[in-house]
Amino acid sequence: MRSRRMVGSRLVLVGALWPLGALLISTAEAGAQPAGADAQARLAAGIEAAVDRLVPEIIEERHRIHRNPELGNREVETAKLVADHLRALGFDEVHTEISHTGVVGVLRGGKPGPIVAVRADMDALPVTERTDLPFKSTVRTTYLGQEVGVMHACGHDIHTSVQLGVAAVLASLRDELPGTVKFIFQPAEEGPPPGEEGGAELMVADGVLVDPAPEAIFGLHSTPELYVGSVGYTPGPALAAVDHFYIEILGTQSHGAWPHNSVDPVVMAAQAIGALQTIRSRNMPPLEPGVVSIGIVRGGERFNIIPERVYLEGTVRTYDPEVRDLVERRMAEILEGVTGAGGGSYELIYDRVTPANFNDVALSERMAPTMERVVGAESVIRTDPSMGGEDFAFFSNEIPGFFYWLGTTKPGTESGGLHTPTYRGDDESITTPSVTAPTTGVGTASVRRLPLHAGEADGSSQVRALDDTDS
Ligand SMILES: [Zn+2]
Ligand SMILES: [Zn+2]
Repeated sequence: MRSRRMVGSRLVLVGALWPLGALLISTAEAGAQPAGADAQARLAAGIEAAVDRLVPEIIEERHRIHRNPELGNREVETAKLVADHLRALGFDEVHTEISHTGVVGVLRGGKPGPIVAVRADMDALPVTERTDLPFKSTVRTTYLGQEVGVMHACGHDIHTSVQLGVAAVLASLRDELPGTVKFIFQPAEEGPPPGEEGGAELMVADGVLVDPAPEAIFGLHSTPELYVGSVGYTPGPALAAVDHFYIEILGTQSHGAWPHNSVDPVVMAAQAIGALQTIRSRNMPPLEPGVVSIGIVRGGERFNIIPERVYLEGTVRTYDPEVRDLVERRMAEILEGVTGAGGGSYELIYDRVTPANFNDVALSERMAPTMERVVGAESVIRTDPSMGGEDFAFFSNEIPGFFYWLGTTKPGTESGGLHTPTYRGDDESITTPSVTAPTTGVGTASVRRLPLHAGEADGSSQVRALDDTDS
């Protein structure tokens, strides 16, 4: 176990550290000093030692955060833990209550260099945890009038603790650090409570990208689709724009036996649901990414009453802003046509939640060799663009950004998907043991993988063979 632990600890926290380290190292390399390589080696050795020393504390903090999850804009205790941590590290600046409960810390290195930012989100979800983790959450709260469990079902506890680890490691090396790092701990990534503002959009509006203004920003997201030790990234378009729509189909109520006295919103809603899918199939270019999904259909009180209204709610995912406009326009036209033909009417609220996230291509290319060096080329996976969204896009729409997937499923264990009660992010994703490859389960259904580009889909390239590990 000892040797395994050493292999692991060499790469601890690399999940978030490598892009940052790479940028700093690249800067040192690109600098005028001929001692660039020495500086790089010194920094790498320092990172290694600091990581070994700091991991137990970071894991401890992860357990505390996981055990005490807080919903968006209510991350009071989490924010306090973060701010206390940064202050204890001697950060140059620690700002709290940014955009509600956000924390921003600034660490200035002892050497000249660029200003870069890292971002972690801190909020949990109204989900009742059903994992076997010894530090599982039993917290309950009231959300939208209902009593619910609260859980870090999207892995934001991992994101926050990785970033606390990065802060600790870099603070311990600050004399060697070329440049300044801005640490952004964000509330409400999952969206603020109704009637409130929040998340990355508000942080940008509140000026977290100025004074000091970072030149680039990095972030990560957990995924149970990849093993611990693997990372995934997509240069260019990576995460879709997220829209949220609300529809009321309005008719006239009647007895179910006399439909001719009604204007039936159930029939109009059924036609609308089908017709809305023609936006995808008939209005969008076939190779253009786009999804229209209805997640809620609600109407009626009794089997023999035609109701007055039917409520629909759903989401649209796109990449191209023109396609986004097209979907919104066609949605209104279809609802107008269907309800007009049926003799009823409609109301549509179309809310644009998050823009698409584009990973800066030059920055992605610059990071790739470092990722490969650190976790092994086979464990760096070029993932397809996702129709999922992330409000990191508000940052990366302002400055070059790089956002990647961190594998969180330990081989031999099972995890539910993100946002499910059985999502089980393993501690080792924080310590990223990398080349300690699994001996079983590779390519089986026990661990799913993100969709890959053609030619990478055989499942064998994800994990390096165990034989290679210690040689
Ligand atoms: Zn989420
Ligand atoms: Zn998330």
